Amino acid sequence: MDFSLSKEQQDIIKAAREFATGEFPDKAQEFDRNETFDLNLWRKACELGFVGVFIAEEYGGAGYGFFEHCLINEEFWAVDPGIGQAILSTTFGSELIGLFGSEDQKRLVLPQLVAGEAIMGTAVTEPDAGCDVTAAATTAVKEGDEWVINGSKMFATNGNLAKYMLIFCQTDPENPSQHKRHSFILVPTKTPGYASTKIRGKLGIRASDTAELSLNNVRVPLNHLVGKEGEGFHELMAFFNRTRLHICAQAVGLARAAIEEAIRHTRQRHQFGAPISSFQVTRFKIAEMATRTRAAKNLYYEAAWSVDQGRIDHGLIAMAKWYSAEMAVRCADEALQMHGGYGYIDEYKVQRLYRDAKILEIYEGTKEMEKTIVSRSILG
Ligand SMILES: Cc1cc2nc3c(=O)[nH]c(=O)nc-3n(C[C@H](O)[C@H](O)[C@H](O)COP(=O)(O)OP(=O)(O)OC[C@H]3O[C@@H](n4cnc5c(N)ncnc54)[C@H](O)[C@@H]3O)c2cc1C
Repeated sequence: MDFSLSKEQQDIIKAAREFATGEFPDKAQEFDRNETFDLNLWRKACELGFVGVFIAEEYGGAGYGFFEHCLINEEFWAVDPGIGQAILSTTFGSELIGLFGSEDQKRLVLPQLVAGEAIMGTAVTEPDAGCDVTAAATTAVKEGDEWVINGSKMFATNGNLAKYMLIFCQTDPENPSQHKRHSFILVPTKTPGYASTKIRGKLGIRASDTAELSLNNVRVPLNHLVGKEGEGFHELMAFFNRTRLHICAQAVGLARAAIEEAIRHTRQRHQFGAPISSFQVTRFKIAEMATRTRAAKNLYYEAAWSVDQGRIDHGLIAMAKWYSAEMAVRCADEALQMHGGYGYIDEYKVQRLYRDAKILEIYEGTKEMEKTIVSRSILG
């Protein structure tokens, strides 16, 4: 396998890094403290072509692979995870539309996402259905030529900002197979009966919008079904096999930022008459952080490259997801430790990185679920 990057990929990285370093640092602390985000920044990122690069050219995208989206994610997260998430999650669910949507759905949604005219999200999780997605109880019932949707969703990214939400619904609750009971339905959020409430007080990625949704007799036409009726579970797994790669890239970006902060601080800070960076304990910690980050990067490069080649290796993707997430949490922890008491206050970026890191082990499959997949791929 040759993971050397093409000139185009190197240019993407350079442009993403320049944009993020130019735009994010001044705003990061304010967005984090106030749990806000300036949508103009998202629009600017769209104008510059950073959003939805994996979307096909015929729908306004750049027609790149998921790998290129990962490269942008890594650079954005290396500067600020919260802003990176706020901008790049705006297409969350377009992967499903691209893979399984009808031509009409693609033409309706995808160009708006790339142009900065619409945000989308995907709501699977419910109050009583987290890791066990098959427990999702939101129902979609056919009435005439419409679906009628009822239920509630938890932790929906972009739930308050989205123009479209993909809702994971039970369409065949009596099916003997729990993997054949659900379907995805595209819901324009202006539809009567859709209501969202912002979830405040998140530990990290506070620039990113998270919502609780209530769906009360939401009616959409039957052709808003995305993919095949009853195939929602399998479609969700195919979706995760793409989106989990994005999380790996986020983790590597965050770990890079943690290393950078650790180096900066330990070179400046003197104790016992010498910079902290000169003590062997510190040097070894930084060596370990750099090694783990590189290992995670190689894992996700291999996994993303395979997906773009059309080869889906569930075990490899799950390995990359849990390893990179755990690695990022550890790097952020070590970086904060090297800051001593200064790392404990939010004047210092490392505190934000420490808080932002934790989500990587939770969303898009908890690390326990990822290890379950890895062990299944090895042991059967
Ligand atoms: C900021 C944020 C954004 C999110 N965005 C979205 C989104 O856009 N769309 C969406 O649908 N969801 C989203 N989520 C939800 C996220 O995917 C879930 O939180 C996650 O899947 C875990 O579900 P849960 O929180 O209900 O935890 P639970 O399922 O209750 O799990 C709690 C703990 O038990 C462990 N556990 C559960 N089952 C097992 C088992 N069989 N074996 C071992 N351990 C187990 C878990 O690993 C975890 O550690 C988001 C969450 C957050 C916090």
